Amino acid sequence: MGSIPRISILMYHQVGIFRRPAAHRATFCHVRRFRTQMAWLKRAGYHVISLTEALRGLKGEIPLPSHSVVLTFDDGYRNFYEHAYPVLRELGFPATVFMVAGLIGTNARWIDEDGRQGAPLMEPDQLLEIRAGGIEIGSHTVTHPRLSRLAVSEAQREITDSKAILESVLGTPVVHFCYPYGDFDQRVADLVREAGYESGLTCIRGAATGEDSLFLLPRKAVSYGDSLIGYLWKLHIKNKKKNPPGAAKAPFM
Ligand SMILES: [Zn+2]
Repeated sequence: MGSIPRISILMYHQVGIFRRPAAHRATFCHVRRFRTQMAWLKRAGYHVISLTEALRGLKGEIPLPSHSVVLTFDDGYRNFYEHAYPVLRELGFPATVFMVAGLIGTNARWIDEDGRQGAPLMEPDQLLEIRAGGIEIGSHTVTHPRLSRLAVSEAQREITDSKAILESVLGTPVVHFCYPYGDFDQRVADLVREAGYESGLTCIRGAATGEDSLFLLPRKAVSYGDSLIGYLWKLHIKNKKKNPPGAAKAPFM
């Protein structure tokens, strides 16, 4: 057991079969590379735990193993269901998917600002199936806006309505939240807490410790170009907090 709980929360977006992307490489992971990363976590004795367990550990309610990792997948792409989920199931790894609640069964429309065809998102049945298979579903708002740019009432609606929509689809409480584009301010983080969530995940880079606000939890992005060496480096070294300069303007994280 480690004395100070420190957890690497890894951030993935799309997992599948892609040609080497020209842009937004941090949001793609080839399924072959994903499988290698997951198999390595298993072999190296990492403890892949659920976000709910991680929160309990960060709050000091339960002891955490020294090498704890949480896996998160933003947006709720259908390629999670098709490519990532089978690998996770095989290894018995839990994970959290942050779903854009207003776009269930449709496409990632916000990507269109980039002129690209939006990738398909999961259907309600697929959400129910992965949930039954040990995947937690969190909220990623209703429409994937930049929350800090919205009027308070609009931001509040994105935060509370998405919770209600997902809870009606799943039939169980939704307690985790993830800020689209990693965009938040204190007002937004307060709204998330007031809406009854227990966590808020950012794109601030670093390992999560007991000193972090549960509503401003840092993560480590895994990008297309990460070899196993790069992956190890992120797990072990990249623990110092850093707000990546590109994060604020990345178009579809
Ligand atoms: Zn997103």
